Amino acid sequence: MKLQEYQSKQIFARYGIPIPKGRIAGTSSEVKLIAEELGGRVVVKSQVLVGGRGKAGGIRLAKTPEEAQEFATAILGMEIKGLPVRKVLVDEAVSITKEFYIGIVNDRVHQMPVLIASGAGGMDIEEVAQKNPEKIIRIHIDPLLGLCDFQMRNAAIGIDLPRGLWKSFIEVIKGLWKAYVDCDATLAEINPLVINSENHLVALDAKVIIDDNSLFRHSDLGDLRDMDSDEPAEIEARKFGVTFIKMNGNIGCMVNGAGLAMATMDILNLFGGEAANFLDIGGGATSEKVAASLKIILSDHKVKSIFINIFGGITRCDEVAKGILLASNDLKIKIPMVVRLIGTNQAEGQQILQNANFTSADTLAQAAQLAVSLAKGKKS
Ligand code: GDP
Ligand code: MN
Repeated sequence: MKLQEYQSKQIFARYGIPIPKGRIAGTSSEVKLIAEELGGRVVVKSQVLVGGRGKAGGIRLAKTPEEAQEFATAILGMEIKGLPVRKVLVDEAVSITKEFYIGIVNDRVHQMPVLIASGAGGMDIEEVAQKNPEKIIRIHIDPLLGLCDFQMRNAAIGIDLPRGLWKSFIEVIKGLWKAYVDCDATLAEINPLVINSENHLVALDAKVIIDDNSLFRHSDLGDLRDMDSDEPAEIEARKFGVTFIKMNGNIGCMVNGAGLAMATMDILNLFGGEAANFLDIGGGATSEKVAASLKIILSDHKVKSIFINIFGGITRCDEVAKGILLASNDLKIKIPMVVRLIGTNQAEGQQILQNANFTSADTLAQAAQLAVSLAKGKKS
């Protein structure tokens, strides 16, 4: 789950990281009031979950409260990379003398977090990594040891930070690390961390991504989920406790278990097809859950065929069959469906679907080939 900048800043502030004074607003008149409170010179920052807002015109520096209001009106009407701007953060403007990048992210290859720092902060860090990899330093953090003092000093040296700022820099990194661990984050990033005109460090931007699997133990963070930027279908799926991820192809898939989902996608690829989604109904799904899942799949208009691939264990094939029937009576589905039910109560399941208008197949290969050719518009 990605957090908005203002939410990430609130977290960082709790860990002693200096952030500019600021408040969140939903209307331009609020923005004017906040700007007056903050002394006039403010930055108006669109709150959307994409990078490069600056380049897209979603971040404007205002000299007066009137100008702040004017910029807010423009920004609140914008879409950035397809996402509508519903809120802006109004921060007191900071005079920047130097910009740095610091971030902590999961490094899957090394199986540990890595601290990334760069003296080339502010702009696109991915671009720096590509064009000037020597400007980026990486320091791996052993999760059992935590971040050690010498590593933080190495980071300060690596980004050429003036000696007088080391102490506060180390406090910032310590705070970032603690926030990362406490929040079960997969990313905690400050870009840019700046030296202001009073020679202090300030975090001008903030980005936190929380591991979705840990949300059950962060009830406070779960409330921060920004519904605007999630796929509506993904939100719907979450309500029913199924995992749905939209993909690029045209074959809607319903399976039980993430492993089977991946195998299903692989075999569709093998036969020249491509999945439109990844939908995992989990173990022991009820017919209601199955019906809801089918509706979610059908809400994607790119779907040209549906492949239901169920391996009955805890999940019972007859429950799944009932769900399919429920949904298809409800929705009058015109899209061809291939159903493969194997395992617990398989015969009962097939019995239920006997008179319905589906293509069933016994082997995974047959079923996948059918789903692919149906998606291409061929008759079964
Ligand atoms: P991003 O483009 O989405 O990463 O948004 P950022 O919050 O990082 O802002 C982009 C750029 O705007 C920063 O790198 C800064 O150069 C500039 N910026 C942001 N806040 C301020 C500020 O208070 N004062 C000044 N002068 N520039 C700012
Ligand atoms: Mn940034």
